[in-house]
Amino acid sequence: MEGLIMNYPLTTNTILEYGNRVFHHKKIISHLPDGTRHEYRFGDMYKRCKKLANALTQKLGITKGDMVGTFAWNHAPHIELYYGISGIGAVCHTINIRLSSQQTEFIINNSEDKVIFVDATLVSLLEKITTLLETVECYVIINAPKDFTTTLPNTLHYEDLLADQSEDIEWPLLNENDASSMCYTSGTTGLPKGVLYSHRSTFLHASNILSPNAGNYSNRDTILLVVPQFHVMAWGFPYMCLLSGSNMVLPSSNLQPEAIIKILKEEKVTKANGVPTIWLGIYQAMKKDPPNEKLALEEYLVGGSALPKSLIEGFEKDFGIKGVQAWGMTETSPLGTLSRLQPKHEQLSDKGKLEIRAKQGIAFPGVELRIITDDGTLAPTDGKTMGELQIKGAWTVSSYFKTNNHESFTEDGWFKTGDVSTIDEDGYMEIKDRTKDLIKSGGEWISSVALESALMAHPKIKEAAVIAIPDEKWVEKPLASIVLVNNESEILDEELMGFLSRDFVKYQIPKDYIYINEVPKTSVGKFDKKEIRRLFAEGKLT
Ligand code: AMP
Repeated sequence: MEGLIMNYPLTTNTILEYGNRVFHHKKIISHLPDGTRHEYRFGDMYKRCKKLANALTQKLGITKGDMVGTFAWNHAPHIELYYGISGIGAVCHTINIRLSSQQTEFIINNSEDKVIFVDATLVSLLEKITTLLETVECYVIINAPKDFTTTLPNTLHYEDLLADQSEDIEWPLLNENDASSMCYTSGTTGLPKGVLYSHRSTFLHASNILSPNAGNYSNRDTILLVVPQFHVMAWGFPYMCLLSGSNMVLPSSNLQPEAIIKILKEEKVTKANGVPTIWLGIYQAMKKDPPNEKLALEEYLVGGSALPKSLIEGFEKDFGIKGVQAWGMTETSPLGTLSRLQPKHEQLSDKGKLEIRAKQGIAFPGVELRIITDDGTLAPTDGKTMGELQIKGAWTVSSYFKTNNHESFTEDGWFKTGDVSTIDEDGYMEIKDRTKDLIKSGGEWISSVALESALMAHPKIKEAAVIAIPDEKWVEKPLASIVLVNNESEILDEELMGFLSRDFVKYQIPKDYIYINEVPKTSVGKFDKKEIRRLFAEGKLT
């Protein structure tokens, strides 16, 4: 028997309308790429979203299901784009600005973006590939200075687009399972894959994060969104803040530790998010030049890579600021788990508490986790037995955009994360390793396989194996172990870096090279990365 409850669609419009109705006075503060500060209220944003929605349909001919790309920093217009585009049933496709030209070109052509909204300061990255973009009909420039020029064809300025538009719009009736937004994961060995979020998944993910047992965000908070809006929808925070009534602070390209500390102080930020590299940098800068007054910042939420215990301890001891860890993936919207202590942990020693806080955490309601061991059995939840982490839930991907990636899913409907983890008796998951052949440096992925095939195309190189090694600033960085064609030939690291710069952007190119006689292989002749990692850890890889 079905329940007798209305089938009320959970959409981004539901979030926007609620945010405006209840929290129209709350602020959105942007520190823009040109260094200026912009402030307005949720209510102002709401009106501009409606103008944008009208402009999209009437001026740009965007209709339901169309893809609309954004190539932008975190700032108010980008928030308007989230709601304006999804609000009319189109798909807000946030494009990662840090990828190589080839990846960006692939992503835009694969998604079939009709229009791209691009920050003036990022235009040069698209100018290089514009002739290769098959579906883009028009570019809308955001935050353009007066004297702005570009070689992009068919451009409009964002403010001109919105001018003269009506603030009235009847939102179309959307099905909550319609697509609302899309992000590509670069955390794959092959081509990037699109993850298409639905209105429902976005709503449920955002409402779950703010719970006191999870992010604990409320209308008393001012939240700094350090996580880029092009990284899995800034972890859902642009939606969550409208539900919690938290002021939003958006740093755009002001991401150097000193710039972030200045914003934290000026805006009296109480909570923030970001990858560990950002918080490591902020901690070191604060140690070097301690703030005169205690910051209003109570907590920072870290995900994307493991939150180091030393950082949790240091920040708390020196500045009274708590680190909270979450885990997730582009495929999981992204937040799947979050780690917080419970009242029953109060009796533990400081070390015992730290052990728990350094775990990746407990799955949200609506998300399930399991560990499958190497022999295919379900691991016990004993905090010791390791295996592949699998996930299913109300905001987990069910299949990739335009791709039949059966190997990413189990026959009984779980998504295989490629992370190697344990789960303890209280449900806290801990990442131990990764089966993905990838390096995560400063929150961005680097494909070791792509680097290896590029390196092996060099005439002097016979074999190249790339592994992740720990790095204080970037958490991980690539190390290339090279076998030269004949051991007498010589090559300089600089020559290899120059060679790779044709296909890779700077952060992806290894700075560390080791020359060896042979790459260790598995029984079936594949590069044995585990063995290479072991040899490196033991200082035997020379
Ligand atoms: P992405 O899809 O780019 O967000 O990357 C997701 C991957 O990042 C996960 O599968 C993990 O390998 C890694 N990751 C995310 N959060 C954490 C965390 N808290 N600790 C360790 N690894 C993490």
